[in-house]
Amino acid sequence: MWTPEQTRAVPHLLLEWYRLHARPMPWHGQNDPYHLLVAATMLQQTQVETVLPYLHRFLQRFPSVRHLAEAEEEEVLRHWVGLGYYSRARHLHRAAQHIVREHQGVVPCDPSLLRRLPGVGEYTAGAVASIACGVPEPALDANGYRILARLLAVEEDITRAPVRRKLWNACRQILPPDAPGDFNQALMDLGATICVARNPRCLICPLAGECAAFLQGCQNALPVLPPRRVNEKVQDVCVVIERNGRWLMVRRDEGRLWRGMWEFPRVRVQPGESLEQAVQRAAGLVQASAQEYEQVTTVRHGVMHYSVTLHALRCICQHLPLQDEDAMRWVSPQEALTLPVSSPMCRVISALLECSALTGEESKTAAG
Ligand code: SF4
Repeated sequence: MWTPEQTRAVPHLLLEWYRLHARPMPWHGQNDPYHLLVAATMLQQTQVETVLPYLHRFLQRFPSVRHLAEAEEEEVLRHWVGLGYYSRARHLHRAAQHIVREHQGVVPCDPSLLRRLPGVGEYTAGAVASIACGVPEPALDANGYRILARLLAVEEDITRAPVRRKLWNACRQILPPDAPGDFNQALMDLGATICVARNPRCLICPLAGECAAFLQGCQNALPVLPPRRVNEKVQDVCVVIERNGRWLMVRRDEGRLWRGMWEFPRVRVQPGESLEQAVQRAAGLVQASAQEYEQVTTVRHGVMHYSVTLHALRCICQHLPLQDEDAMRWVSPQEALTLPVSSPMCRVISALLECSALTGEESKTAAG
């Protein structure tokens, strides 16, 4: 583990560097744990530059834990559209309700209480506790784990739980009790700007003299990660069914992905299944049967370990459901724009609006 020299030098050098090079963040100087909780949740899978506009908008609409707790889930999801990983939004919403119920609406500063909140793991708990409350608790994100693995020349897979535990404890050993928040943010910033995943910029790194990987010349080989999963190619079909200028949209209820969000009826094309058969299956999700269809657009996107090609087809259907139900609605294009929808579905809606604008066509009225 650390040499006695590293124990003293690493936090000292890192904090000195941070005081000169900290990236400007909207939460700097901010000690509202709620703001930190929202920011740290958004940052779990997303880069700072992407998060900033969303964070601003989200906090404007939900300025306090109570505002968030009292909102409808659909509205919370709508303010998350474009950030992806929507389970984070649902967890954050439930966490706010838990805080109102169990902690009188005050976000706790105790990391063990924070970790009991839905969706709050060690990183988020550590970030809130250290940055907002000054509690000496590590907050290691992917950047932090990478830096520590290099500083200590750890040659084990850093995604394994025992290795992560070892790095977490190593971080705790050098965490300065008088500046834990700055130290944690300094690690995040160093990982984002200097100790980057590929070709770390060791020659300008403040920790180069203390870094075992750099001194051994193995910084490009670390950290050790598991082999990358090869992306599986799949095809999805979604059907755009129109009636009187309205589209039929359904709310996803199954699985973890995009649950609670709205979309055109969508299925995955099964092995050996034709596009036409998949179209019928998608229409069948709303008890309709497709008579004719035409391509609107094709959207390619990645999700988890899948490379998805989504075919959006405009369908004329028979046997359409007439009434709205809890998980099914006829919506105008304007309403569709206000629903929480995934990014790929958003691209389908944009293509539809573009088609309509280009052709000036009237919406097709399908047989009921
Ligand atoms: S010297 Fe290089 S590998 Fe070591 S912490 Fe700095 S940037 Fe990372």
